[in-house]
Amino acid sequence: MGNIVVAIDIGGTGVKFGLVDRTGKILTTSKVKTAEYHEPEKLAADIFTWADAEAKKINASITGVGIGTPNGNYFKGTIDFAPNLPWKGVIPLKKLFEKKFGVHVALTNDAKAAALGELYFGNAKGMKDFLFITLGTGLGSGIVVNGAIVYGYDSLAGEVGHVIMMPNGRQCPCGRKGCLEQYVSAPGIVKTYYEVLRTKNLDEFRTSLGGMIDSEVLYKKAESGDATALEAFEKTGEMLGLALSNSVCYTRPEKIFLFGGLAQAGDLIFKPTIKSFEENLLPIYKNKIPILPSGLHESEAAILGSASLIWNELN
Ligand SMILES: [Zn+2]
Repeated sequence: MGNIVVAIDIGGTGVKFGLVDRTGKILTTSKVKTAEYHEPEKLAADIFTWADAEAKKINASITGVGIGTPNGNYFKGTIDFAPNLPWKGVIPLKKLFEKKFGVHVALTNDAKAAALGELYFGNAKGMKDFLFITLGTGLGSGIVVNGAIVYGYDSLAGEVGHVIMMPNGRQCPCGRKGCLEQYVSAPGIVKTYYEVLRTKNLDEFRTSLGGMIDSEVLYKKAESGDATALEAFEKTGEMLGLALSNSVCYTRPEKIFLFGGLAQAGDLIFKPTIKSFEENLLPIYKNKIPILPSGLHESEAAILGSASLIWNELN
């Protein structure tokens, strides 16, 4: 079968992993619960046992292990102070996996890994400059310039979600106020919905507080024409478009890709985003930079991203 990589996606709830070939074909996958692994060494051991057996079944050899994780530091190969993982402090995960697997291991932040997935297996194939935004419980980003992920001085570049859009705005867990992801994310748009509802219909606002809705219910409301829900999407798109128009000044991407649950709302989010983006762009950039949906499937993006990390280095 030839060479394959082990691709791992670490999340707060689960760890997903799979074997991926050079063409981006996911050959097999499995998953475990993150909370069951108090020792990261045990995670490395269990994934090794699984991957070794699966690779033998298809007569493939493992050439590398790619890991996408929250708070992953590409330069150091560590997970640093991840608030949603069971391992505290600085975890030398790259070293642990190298010891177990005996092959090259690369680790990075999950959004950066997904951006590489877009580059190798999604809509950014062959592109040298693009911006990749993930819209989920937070807002993650991967910036590609001259064909490479921008890591910056210490691997921590690309925190577009923590650009302050509203001075003294909503409190962010990062300790500051008014960060983009407090507005443009699944929980962010729900908050905006309730803010709009409170100004429009105080009685409905009060009765609705008993059973707070989530972003999926909000999407269905907007789809069925609910004016308050539609306004929440408008406001969210306005903020995202403005943030993206500013980001263009730094790297001038060829295209911008939106990925994740909120991006799947289609026109509801893309229309107001593109409108605000074009309105706020510096004239030299106007009508030149498309904002498009990601070409990666929601369920495959993380695994393909982690796999790309290795294929990228073996090029
Ligand atoms: Zn923040």
